[in-house]
Amino acid sequence: MNKFFPVAEPSITEREIRYVLDAVKSGWVSSLGHYIFDFEKRFAEYVGVKYALTTTNGTTALHLALASLDIKGGDEVIVPDLTFVAVPNAVAYTGAKPVFVDIDLETWCIDPEAIKKAITARTKAIIPVHLYGHPADMDAVNQIAEEHGLYVIEDAAEAHGAEYEGKKVGSMGHVGVFSFYGNKVITTGEGGMITTDDEAVYERARFLRDHAMSKERRYWHTELGFNYRLTNIQAALGLAQLERIEELLDKKRLIFKSYEEFLGGFGAIRLNPEKKWARNTFWMVCLILGKDIKITRDELMLELRKMGIDTRPFFYPMSQMPIYKSNSGNSAAYDISGKGLNLPSGGNLNRKDIEFISQSLLALLKHS
Ligand SMILES: *Cc1c(COP(=O)(O)O)cnc(C)c1O
Repeated sequence: MNKFFPVAEPSITEREIRYVLDAVKSGWVSSLGHYIFDFEKRFAEYVGVKYALTTTNGTTALHLALASLDIKGGDEVIVPDLTFVAVPNAVAYTGAKPVFVDIDLETWCIDPEAIKKAITARTKAIIPVHLYGHPADMDAVNQIAEEHGLYVIEDAAEAHGAEYEGKKVGSMGHVGVFSFYGNKVITTGEGGMITTDDEAVYERARFLRDHAMSKERRYWHTELGFNYRLTNIQAALGLAQLERIEELLDKKRLIFKSYEEFLGGFGAIRLNPEKKWARNTFWMVCLILGKDIKITRDELMLELRKMGIDTRPFFYPMSQMPIYKSNSGNSAAYDISGKGLNLPSGGNLNRKDIEFISQSLLALLKHS
């Protein structure tokens, strides 16, 4: 049997096991308990914001952020066309309309020029997504938002620890959103977080997260709220992961650098970008096939799979989804989406593994 190389796998050590066991044994298994508060406090410190609030997952974090900013039916929210479906879905949950704009061909993140063209009288917010670990051009996005009085919600679900000109992602918009799904930089199994410097938004999010229950009167609800609370058990896992985040990010960078060493000389493909102003987290190692490559992306994935090498296609443009179908004309998003794939990026890969994967890949690309 050949070795199997998954695209992602979590890194769980004795520390995670110890904290989770402690949470379970303590009896605080639901959404009260010190791990939740420790995790939120340490996460806020890590990102460099005043407040952080845990949620059940990244999608509910997005929804809670939008709801806390009072985004609702009749509003429009500008999102990149190339992203995970949670982004437009969370907008749709509020009744607002997601408006898809094109990406920048170099960063694969939202194109500020395209944002300008999409703004209407109904636009309320912009959601830049730090795709695959590379930050969006936040100064440009924030400047447009300021000029038009719009909110900025940073989707940092794939970019814990990424930096834009030395500032951590999740600290530059009105609200930042993170996911702790099993394949993310750090995980709680399922889980999410919102970050903000705005006390009113934080308080509003906390209130809505807990069924909008009155602070003065228990079981009194004046508004439609949600139950988006994370458990103490999950927060215990999250705290242990957060304490190891620099180690995990170093490993991601090392993995990317090894791929770069083995694949970088082959000019017909492109790997993850890293702008001068950026610290990429290399959440997923990405490969873009150039136009001289004959084998299609999907055939390549199939062949790699036969060798035990798991890959993932890039996200499809959201404007192509049956529920959002629109004639977007977002050519960069369509171009990158069709030619991109994610290579095995899990923390357990060693240099030999990456050499094997790279050589298998090059053999397929050269003989196609
Ligand atoms: C993973 C992800 C989310 C949603 O996170 P879940 O925890 O899976 O709900 C949102 N946005 C982006 C860009 C993601 O990659």
